[in-house]
Amino acid sequence: MVSYNHESFQSRESYTAQIHLPGHVFQELVWWALQALPDEILVGMDVDGNAPHLPEVEHFFKSTEHTEGLFQGQGFRISEAHIVNRGNSYSVHHLPEDWTDDMFSTTRGSRAGRFTHWLHTHPNAPAIPSHADADAAQETPGVDMILGLRFSPEGPLPWFDDVEGVRRRVGAEAKPKPTKSKRRSFFSRQNLTVLGVAPSGHKIHEIQLIAFRKNGLGINVILVDEEGYPLGWDELQSSIKP
Ligand SMILES: [Zn+2]
Repeated sequence: MVSYNHESFQSRESYTAQIHLPGHVFQELVWWALQALPDEILVGMDVDGNAPHLPEVEHFFKSTEHTEGLFQGQGFRISEAHIVNRGNSYSVHHLPEDWTDDMFSTTRGSRAGRFTHWLHTHPNAPAIPSHADADAAQETPGVDMILGLRFSPEGPLPWFDDVEGVRRRVGAEAKPKPTKSKRRSFFSRQNLTVLGVAPSGHKIHEIQLIAFRKNGLGINVILVDEEGYPLGWDELQSSIKP
């Protein structure tokens, strides 16, 4: 998460807005994603109206193209996440019609309205939006996020990497090493870095996370602690001192 935040800072000029996601929520998302395999999951997320982004953090990651009022919930930390659906890459976006009636009445009060932000998973595929994802995002008042996970054993989902787009990896260790041969052999697959082992027993090789607005613009994700400070905040600040 620390190296992810470093990259968010380095590439801040590529974004017009930022969103602060607590690390403990992010950890939960990864675990849910693995528990649901081989399905994708759709997760609804809300912000805490009493937890604005810390001004010094917002300022630190702000780009010159920064724009206010881009999406609902902008400027507030994500506070909670709920699994709403699971399915394949198409069905996961289609919610049962009566899903707001009972599903969340106990956890979300009588309002039980739509969520501000949405996240879905890409098991063994990069976190890059598909056409179906772009369509689904048109209904989102906040931002859409994609969590891509590369893991083994792969089961029925071998790693699919033939997608154009910018990758944002969590964990600098997981950056692919340059290979001499273009041929991808069975043996090169055995040399994947292991970031960690999930409670499900899956070895996690790569975690990717992106956020985007329905117009296709990327939103910079900052992984924060319970107080709202980025993980690795001290290192980040000292990295820009002359
Ligand atoms: Zn998708």
